[in-house]
Amino acid sequence: GVPGAGKSTSIDTFGMHLVKQGRRLAVLAIDPSSERSGGSILGDKTRMEQLSREKNAFIRPSPSAGSLGGVARKTRETIVLCEAAGFDTIFVETVGVGQSETAVHSMVDFFLLIQLAGTGDELQGIKRGIMEMADAIVINKADGDNIDKANLAATHFRNALHLFPPTESGWRPKVLTYSGFYGLGIKEIWDMVDEYRHFATDSGYFEEKRQRQTKWWMYESINEALKNSFYQSEAIRSLRPEVESDILSDRLSSFVGAQRLLDAYFKSLK
Ligand code: GDP
Repeated sequence: GVPGAGKSTSIDTFGMHLVKQGRRLAVLAIDPSSERSGGSILGDKTRMEQLSREKNAFIRPSPSAGSLGGVARKTRETIVLCEAAGFDTIFVETVGVGQSETAVHSMVDFFLLIQLAGTGDELQGIKRGIMEMADAIVINKADGDNIDKANLAATHFRNALHLFPPTESGWRPKVLTYSGFYGLGIKEIWDMVDEYRHFATDSGYFEEKRQRQTKWWMYESINEALKNSFYQSEAIRSLRPEVESDILSDRLSSFVGAQRLLDAYFKSLK
């Protein structure tokens, strides 16, 4: 969900719901803003007031800097660590902008999109790709005067989802309304997540997706390491400015330029 959608409030409420059931919860965040500003929208402990006082909840401050790829990989590694440490439920939080959703999608079992009721045109501005990834869309702040608007928004989303091709898992994404602040509709959302888990476990999709993610992360790590090795190598560092200027002044095509750098890199390895 975008900033202001109510992620912190919701995670606090959801988290308390789960901790009271005896679960051990870890909350991680992938925050693309940290790359640009060095600051962070997400991951601040004080945002989840009740949960941060629970001994069965671990809230990791969002990594403060690094590329999205690097931050995502660390988050993926932290998931594995948290599982080993006995956390049975892990939330990965991200703001609804940019590339981070794809990274999150590659490490979670269930993708929940938090939306707000707007002026009737709420479907605008939501990237289709993000909606396609969602296993459920939940409309927050369905309280007080906002209940009717939230229900209307839910109808819009349901209609829109009907036009989407069937999901890979065969699961039909659900749309629910709730209030994170007043704790309304929380149980229903968690029941739905459970329903998904049963559905996907029975069909074998749950395990299959996890295996695919495991494989994806191996190759992702390799790609990342190769890229770093390439760009950090002395040969590339010294040759790059020259080749770059050659392609910018049309003395070399992009492809020939690339080949020249790759040749220099491979030669430097020998
Ligand atoms: P985040 O940026 O997505 O983490 O959003 P926050 O959880 O910080 O919430 C943004 C604002 O919306 C805060 O002022 C919250 O108090 C308010 N808010 C969050 N959830 C609800 C809700 O269920 N109902 C209402 N009325 N306000 C909410």
